[in-house]
Amino acid sequence: MPETNDKMVVILTAPSGTGKTTVAAKILKQDAELTFSVSHTTRPIRDGEQDGVNYHYVDDATFDSMVESGAFAEWAHVHKRRYGTSLREVERSHEAGQDVLLDIDPQGGVQLMETYPDAVTIFMVPPSMIELERRLRGRGTEDEDQISTRLGVAREEIGYAARYDYLVVNDVVDRAADAIAAILQTERNRTSRNGSFIRELQAQGETS
Ligand code: 5GP
Repeated sequence: MPETNDKMVVILTAPSGTGKTTVAAKILKQDAELTFSVSHTTRPIRDGEQDGVNYHYVDDATFDSMVESGAFAEWAHVHKRRYGTSLREVERSHEAGQDVLLDIDPQGGVQLMETYPDAVTIFMVPPSMIELERRLRGRGTEDEDQISTRLGVAREEIGYAARYDYLVVNDVVDRAADAIAAILQTERNRTSRNGSFIRELQAQGETS
């Protein structure tokens, strides 16, 4: 695709435990035109995570002041913590000529559909609820209470799927990543995202 295409906001949502982070990491590795939007969160950092890479980890006061100053494109409470996408993060990617991938919960996704009506929206689901439970247990980061809470939340969250453009089932990571790559390729080929390239072609060799 020409470099002049209009840059995309890609919203990826999935109930926790679906394997979205793994699939997102794979797509980001394969797709040189796609950058991850690093959200702000008040939740504590987990083992293996890095500040500024997985999230910007901030305290409540910092989060409050960002809300007050209008720094967020959206923010939401998820599992009793706050998470937000800063407007600056999206702008930075677009200024660098990159599409931007947002890994956000359904409340945030729906808010962003209003801010970015042309966003490409993808909802990822597990192949079954039994498999989701197995994956949550296997992760070993939540106790039994938290697992049953997350399963309940997952059922509610799946209710948002129909508001998204695309549904991807994460049965096997490679297959889910391939499905998303195909969606992104298709979206990049939309004429509506390539107006400037079309005009540029028309202008080539024009004699005035
Ligand atoms: P985790 O704490 O497991 O990394 O993420 C918990 C949930 O928060 C996930 O569903 C993730 O998609 C969501 N999340 C991460 N960043 C954001 C954000 O900036 N905004 C919103 N609304 N949700 C987010």
